[in-house]
Amino acid sequence: MEASSGERAAAARARGELAAATEIAEAAVAAAPADPRGWVLLGSIDHLRGDLERAASRYRRALALAPRDAAAHAALAVNLVQRGQPATARAHFAAATSPDASPPLADLQWLQAFQQARELDEAGPALAWSRCATPLPCPRAPAELPAGPPRERGRVTWSLADLVAALRTSSRIVALTGAGMSAASGLETRKQLWQRFTRDDAVSMARFRDDPATLWSVIRAFWGDRPHPANAGHQALARLPNLAAIVTQNVDELHQAAAAAAGRSTPVIELHGSLSRTRCLDCGRSGEASAQALAASGRPLPPRCTCGGVLRPEVVLFGEQVPAAAMASARAHAAAADLLLVIGCAMDVSPARELPLVAARAGARIVELKRRPSRLAAAVLVHHVPGAAEDILPAVTMALATSEPGRDARP
Ligand SMILES: [Zn+2]
Repeated sequence: MEASSGERAAAARARGELAAATEIAEAAVAAAPADPRGWVLLGSIDHLRGDLERAASRYRRALALAPRDAAAHAALAVNLVQRGQPATARAHFAAATSPDASPPLADLQWLQAFQQARELDEAGPALAWSRCATPLPCPRAPAELPAGPPRERGRVTWSLADLVAALRTSSRIVALTGAGMSAASGLETRKQLWQRFTRDDAVSMARFRDDPATLWSVIRAFWGDRPHPANAGHQALARLPNLAAIVTQNVDELHQAAAAAAGRSTPVIELHGSLSRTRCLDCGRSGEASAQALAASGRPLPPRCTCGGVLRPEVVLFGEQVPAAAMASARAHAAAADLLLVIGCAMDVSPARELPLVAARAGARIVELKRRPSRLAAAVLVHHVPGAAEDILPAVTMALATSEPGRDARP
């Protein structure tokens, strides 16, 4: 396969132009049928189209040509997880991350495959749909990722004063936020929700098509019928000096509410969409009310479009991809940051968890605000400030405001 046609197909795939991507990739495979990369690429496009069986056959075709090809093993492993075959998936993850793999995966993809294999070990046979919102560990345009080996790893505990000093000397701060950010607004974390619902039944795209009412019940339970205002953490973050962007896994739009209240226009990149928007599965029209309002309305679930089709919330479900444009923007912000604040993230869902690695490789300091540290330190050097966002962030913005050089501190 010519490098250029592979890149063009991958670029079309990243833009969501799947028909064009297929055409380019099929032509490349026809021209070089013995090149395993073409088959992996074709499989990844089938995967995005939702044809998992055909995608698997493409990956197996690549492995028949190159039995140690790490990208083919990793892509097939993700595919098998989604098709409910965790034991076979585990074997392919092992092959993908083995020192014998040839050609091996790039660092970030290796790390993803390694983490996914470990999650399979931890979940055991219970796991079925859980990691479907992962990007495909198959060839991506190399320009998307900074090159070079991982830098330092490990964890250093920081005090509030350490954090204030680091923020004062940073000029491009990017925040990556997760469910812990919104806990103080009365919103349950996923961990809490999954004590009441079977996660894989509730939020996978495949199950939604068969049983849309369950996801809507989860939304009703998650949001309830009370308002959930932005909390002190959102408000303080919105006022943080030199904050270039917020990348969030949350679907509650509380960062936008806090920014509006503070008169800021900091970009907010929603990796997992927003509950405020809905769309008809049949005609594609946008719904007029937010998912929260529809779920709380007391009307029968699922809510329906005027055409009779089922409405879905505009959030990324398991089995769906994070929108390519959102991910590209998040990566660009992470790569340009000099300090990445990771706030209230479990860091267990791809592709958000690759962002700290992107930022660290580009030279940013990684600071984690969380009661208990995540596993992030296995991948990068993490400065951990123990505590809750709604306590740490207001204290920090106050310290920055009162000690700003040149600021008159008198009352
Ligand atoms: Zn409709």
